Amino acid sequence: MSRLLILGGTTEATRLAAALQDWPQLEVQTSLAGRTQQPVLPPGAVRVGGFGGVAGLAHHLQSESIDLLIDATHPFAAQISQNAAEAAQKVGIPSLILQRPAWVPQAGDRWISVPDLATAVEQLANLGDRIFLTIGRQELAAFAELRDRWFLMRMIDPPAEDAPLPPGEILLERGPFSLEHERSLLMQYQIDAIVSKNSGGSATAAKLQAARELSLPVVMVERPVLPNVQQATTLDAALQWLKMHC
Ligand code: NAP
Repeated sequence: MSRLLILGGTTEATRLAAALQDWPQLEVQTSLAGRTQQPVLPPGAVRVGGFGGVAGLAHHLQSESIDLLIDATHPFAAQISQNAAEAAQKVGIPSLILQRPAWVPQAGDRWISVPDLATAVEQLANLGDRIFLTIGRQELAAFAELRDRWFLMRMIDPPAEDAPLPPGEILLERGPFSLEHERSLLMQYQIDAIVSKNSGGSATAAKLQAARELSLPVVMVERPVLPNVQQATTLDAALQWLKMHC
């Protein structure tokens, strides 16, 4: 019997844990950061909360006798991915990053690709007055200085009460979102431009199609660089990797 730790918080992590339910040779634990108030819980054992950096994660791997680590966190969760790579190397266990492919622009898209949110803020200067911010709730402060613009800010849970926010409206919604939903949202709020992280996946991709149809610009924040760890982009590839290791 081998023990696998999945670092989760994504659809991919939940699907992986579900697919491993009938693997008798593997005991699976999924770890969630604990950011979302009512998370979608994966099947099987779940632990919640930070580990305490690389040292804390390495300690967890050893004390729980973990043999294998799959980092299936969100493409923009850069800190935990770095910690995972270092901790796995420290304790000498194989690790894999499972990450969905990034979105790529299609004909008709008006994307402005930027490396980070600070550059996204700069790019908004000439893109209109009404902006749809689809970056979650943790980094809204980057836009708080833009007092002359109006923002529709979508997220799952509300921001902290003392979080600096730009002017606008908070929209609490959890994906997946349909094309009809996204199209009517953009039209109802008379949106001029969208800011998105290049998260990839199908659950939140409809906003990009709706933007294409309406010829709206999308400021696309590209992904942070991953640590130098073996990668899989599909569930099947992750399962193949596991078969090789247990
Ligand atoms: P982050 O900046 O990379 O991580 C910050 C700290 O949160 C880590 O150092 C770690 O704390 C803790 N942490 C993160 N993921 C964890 C996990 N799966 N289990 C236990 N501890 C975890 O991460 P983030 O961007 O705040 O994202 C937090 C979680 O939300 C991730 O699990 C990610 O999959 C999910 N998520 C993130 C986004 C996004 O846009 N960033 C979107 C959707 C879902 P310690 O150092 O104390 O161990």
